[in-house]
Amino acid sequence: MIDLHTHSTVSDGTDPPEAVVALAADAGCHALSITDHDTLEHVAAAVRAGAEHGVRVVPGCELSCEVAAYAPGTMHLLVYFVEPDVGPLPEVLSELQEGRDRRNERIVAALHDQGIDIDLGAVRAVAGDGTVGRPHIARVLVDGGHATSIQDAFDRWLAKGRPAYQERERLTPERAIELAHASGAVTSLAHPDSLGLDPDAGEKLVAEWAEDGLDALEADYGRYTPEERAHWREMARRHGLEITGGSDYHGEHKPGLSVCVGTGDLAVPDEVLDRLEARRP
Ligand code: AMP
Ligand code: FE
Ligand code: FE
Ligand code: ZN
Repeated sequence: MIDLHTHSTVSDGTDPPEAVVALAADAGCHALSITDHDTLEHVAAAVRAGAEHGVRVVPGCELSCEVAAYAPGTMHLLVYFVEPDVGPLPEVLSELQEGRDRRNERIVAALHDQGIDIDLGAVRAVAGDGTVGRPHIARVLVDGGHATSIQDAFDRWLAKGRPAYQERERLTPERAIELAHASGAVTSLAHPDSLGLDPDAGEKLVAEWAEDGLDALEADYGRYTPEERAHWREMARRHGLEITGGSDYHGEHKPGLSVCVGTGDLAVPDEVLDRLEARRP
């Protein structure tokens, strides 16, 4: 079994990369990818821990992409076999991080306009060494008594459509796929239902992205039912795509999900990784 979708403290998970690798080893997982959001800063530590624990670590990340306005949800692209310092992607990720920092400042300013003063230093302290994002701002809002829970902070202030929501620069899927390939990597559409599209519109987009070079769909997603997994597997087959699978483990931020087994029934075979690797450019 393998797990190709997990998060560490380097983005919005609650376990350091080494601890996620240790959990994979304990679960008897043969290969693991930590796919922190829009960064590769977890890769070196994860690979080192993998060597110690005898778990194959596939260097990866998860990119938030821009999609047409008619898609109400989010588009996340998983990228595998990407290495820090190889190809154009790492540099582009650094630029995206700067865009994220500027976005965070705008969120704090928007909260100020709503009569809420929070300190960006406190937000950075919550994030520790990792990427600073809305979950950390949410934590500070809760600690300051401005929300009753992380979810409440999103619902009141931070979610799309709420008063402190601010856009940030993102790659288009086409550009992300192109950058990944130019960096020796392959891509998979993460949790494909999160686009929030009806089946026909979703299929049309998947067809376009398959033309653009998308390599796989994440059919075996931790939280999917067997029927949903079968549905996305069929769609992958129709478009000549591979499938990938993973738990989307975030530690305490997404309770009820475990590395490798997801909610309990996830079992992604090793062969999935072999097929994905065969698509490397
Ligand atoms: P950021 O990348 O800083 O924009 O934060 C994105 C993260 O915030 C996601 O990975 C989720 O963990 C969390 N998030 C985004 N939207 C919501 C929402 N509506 N409710 C709860 N958490 C959310
Ligand atoms: Fe996340
Ligand atoms: Fe995601
Ligand atoms: Zn994820």
